[in-house]
Amino acid sequence: MLVKKAFRFELMPKGGHIRRMKQSCGCARFVFNRALAYQKDLYESDKTSRFSYTRLADFLPAWKKEFPWLKDCHSQMLQQSLKDLGSAYRNFFSKRTGFPRFKRKGVRAKSGLNRSILDQGWYGFRRQLEYKLAWKGGILVAVTPQNTSRRCPECGYVSAENRQTQAEFRCVACGFEENADLVAAINILRAGLARIACEVNGAVMPSAVGTHRGDQGTCALVR
Ligand SMILES: [Zn+2]
Repeated sequence: MLVKKAFRFELMPKGGHIRRMKQSCGCARFVFNRALAYQKDLYESDKTSRFSYTRLADFLPAWKKEFPWLKDCHSQMLQQSLKDLGSAYRNFFSKRTGFPRFKRKGVRAKSGLNRSILDQGWYGFRRQLEYKLAWKGGILVAVTPQNTSRRCPECGYVSAENRQTQAEFRCVACGFEENADLVAAINILRAGLARIACEVNGAVMPSAVGTHRGDQGTCALVR
């Protein structure tokens, strides 16, 4: 079987990097728009004119003189903007897309992106997880989160007081101490295992069952 994998990486830039990236994007957008405006004017006066990367690239030194802040941006990025415009023109002439449009500030696109993340949110995440697991030969077992962060994995005592801070778990009944995330992970794993055991046995169990050690037995009793 031929499996094609795609990898997507997310950059996690910090303060200065973000500023610099925004600045570069601004310069690239400026050059793209200016080149497009020039190209449109040219086409208006001469309908036989074609897009020429070299002709536009020759303008770059003059534009940098006129707008000195363009010099802060890497010259290859500005050249890439012109190449992108070239691709947009090629796509237009081969009828793949519409006529190249001026690039606007990214605000609108970003609000759309935020909305799509909100729309997709957990549903998309869960679907991805299911898909990846199936690919690797695993299964996804959903458990109710109820009490998973409050139940002591050692003695089973459930209390909000077991969780004094966000990070630390300390059982007020038996004194068991552990990182709170780890405790939740243990409880979730047990709940999931109990759920699988019950499904294998064809038993019905309340979803909250299985969050501590003794609960695997509850499932057998239901059967
Ligand atoms: Zn305890």
